[in-house]
Amino acid sequence: MCIHSSSNMEPSVTTPVYQNFINGHFLANKSGKTFDVTNPATGEVIYAVEIADEFIQNAAIASAKQGFAQWSAMSPIERSRILLKAVAILRERNDELALVEVLDTGKPMQEANCVDIETGADVIEFFAGLAPAQVGQQQMVGSDFYYTRKEPLGICAGIGAWNYPLQIACWKSGPALAAGNAFIFKPSEETPLGAIKLAEIFVEAGVPAGVFNVVQGAGDVGQWLTQHTDIDKVSFTGEVGTGKKVVASAAGSLKDVTMELGGKSPLIVFDDANIEQAVSAAMLGNFYTQGEVCTNCTRIYVHKNVYQQFIDELKTRTEQNIIAGDPQDLNTNFGALISKKHQDLVMSYVNKGIAEGATLLTGGTTLSPASAPNGYFVAPTVFIDCNDDMSIVKEEIFGPVMSVLVFDDEDDVIKRANGTHLGLAAGVFTSDIKRAHRVIHQLQAGICWINAYGNSPAEMPVGGYKQSGIGRENGIETLYTYTQTKSVYVGMTDIESPF
Ligand code: NDP
Repeated sequence: MCIHSSSNMEPSVTTPVYQNFINGHFLANKSGKTFDVTNPATGEVIYAVEIADEFIQNAAIASAKQGFAQWSAMSPIERSRILLKAVAILRERNDELALVEVLDTGKPMQEANCVDIETGADVIEFFAGLAPAQVGQQQMVGSDFYYTRKEPLGICAGIGAWNYPLQIACWKSGPALAAGNAFIFKPSEETPLGAIKLAEIFVEAGVPAGVFNVVQGAGDVGQWLTQHTDIDKVSFTGEVGTGKKVVASAAGSLKDVTMELGGKSPLIVFDDANIEQAVSAAMLGNFYTQGEVCTNCTRIYVHKNVYQQFIDELKTRTEQNIIAGDPQDLNTNFGALISKKHQDLVMSYVNKGIAEGATLLTGGTTLSPASAPNGYFVAPTVFIDCNDDMSIVKEEIFGPVMSVLVFDDEDDVIKRANGTHLGLAAGVFTSDIKRAHRVIHQLQAGICWINAYGNSPAEMPVGGYKQSGIGRENGIETLYTYTQTKSVYVGMTDIESPF
C-alpha cells in the first residue's frame, strides 16, 4: 500500500515530500527546508517533510483564528455530528492508517491494526458524544441570579511523542474540538504522517478549514507554539525534561497546560496472585510496542515466596513467545525501536545494568531478525538481582528492559514503589480484594490497575502524579479543561448605590 499523498508530492523527486497542513490544505513553506523520515524496521528514508518556517507559522495562526470563529459559532450538536463522521472514516481506513503508523514507528502491524486507530477513534467518539451534553449552572442569589456558560478557550496546541502518533493526535484534538476550539498540532519529527492523515480526515468529514492544522518540525517549532501569545493552551506528551521546558515557556503567556510525561511505574505481585496472569501483565507492560509505552511497569516487585516461579515462567515465555521481525508480518509481535539513536540509548542502559551488578535473565543484546536485518531492534530484556538504587531501576528507559525486584513486606514494598519522583502508573496482582485496594490507595500514581495492566479506555481519565504530568487526558473531566467558565450575573432589582 502506498502512503504518499499526490496532493502535495513534488514531481521532481522520488521520495514523497509532505507539506504542512494549514487551513484545510497542504501549504508549501518559503524556506524550502525539509527533514527526512526513516522506517525504523529497515533504516531507509521513506519520505520527507517540509519544516514549518515563519511563513507557515504565521499562516497557521491566521488559519486557526478563522477556523475558531466558524467552529465555535456552530452548535455543539453540529460539531458532534461532524466529529462522528471523522470517527467513521478513521474506522473505515483502519488498516491503511495502521500501515502509516507501522512504517513510521516500527511497531508490529498486529498491534497497530487493532489498537492505534481504534483507541484514537474511540476518544473522538467519546468527546463528540459529550459535546452537546455540556451544561452551565444557574442559581438564584436573592432576587437576582447568575448563570454560567462553558466557552471554548480559543486556539489550543498539541505537541506529540513518537510512540502512538495518530492516537496522541486524536486524544488531544478530540476533547479540544468537541469543546469548540481550533487546534494546531506538532507531531514528533520521527513520526509526522499520522497527524496529516487525521487532518485530511477531519476536512473530509466536514470540519471547517482552519480548525485542525498540522505544523512540522523539531523542538524549535514546538517551542514557538508554547510561546505564542495567541495560543491559549498547550497539551504536551513527551519526556519530563522537555515538559519542564514547555511549562516554563508557556508561563510567559500564562497558558493552560496539560502534561503527559514519562514514568517508571511499579507492578507489585503478591504471593497469592495468579502468577501466569501476573507474568502476562509484566510482559505486556514491558514488551508491547517494544517497550516504548509511557505507563510501562518497568519495576516489577515480586513477593519472595513466588519469585522463583515468576522468573522461571517469565524467562520461558519471553524466550519462546516473542517474535521479532518485519513489523508488517502479522506474526511479528515485537518491532523495532524508533531510531538508531534510541537503540543506542537503550543498549547503554543495558550495559549500565550489567556494570551496576544486575544479572541478565534474558536478552541484553541488539537483534537482527532475518526478515528485518537492518532494523533498530533490542531483544526483550529482563534483569534480576536488581536493587532500587540502580540506574535501570530509577530512570525511564523507554525500551524493552524490565527490572525484577524481590520483596517480603507490604508496607516496605509500598515505600519502595513510591520512592521515585515519577508517578504515572502502578499495578497490583493479588487475589485478596482488601489488600488490592489498600495498597493501590497508598501508591502515588495517577493510573492504577488491579489484576490488569495497560488498559486505557476513552472513559477513564489518565495522567500522572508527581513529575509525570499535570492534568488528565480522556474521561469527562478532560472536556472541561478545554473550556473556560463565564459567569453572568443578572440584576433583577434596582442597583443600590452610595454614589
Ligand atoms: P520528547 O520530550 O523528546 O519530545 C516530545 C515532543 O516535544 C516532540 O514533538 C518534540 O519534537 C517536542 N519538543 C522537543 N523539544 C521541545 C521544546 N523545547 N518545546 C516544545 N516541544 C519540544 O519525547 P519523545 O518524543 O522522545 O517521547 C518519549 C517520551 O514521551 C517518554 O518520556 C514517554 O514516557 C513520554 N510519553 C508520555 C505519555 C503519557 O501519556 N504520559 C505517552 C507517550 C509518551 P521533536 O521530537 O520533533 O524534536
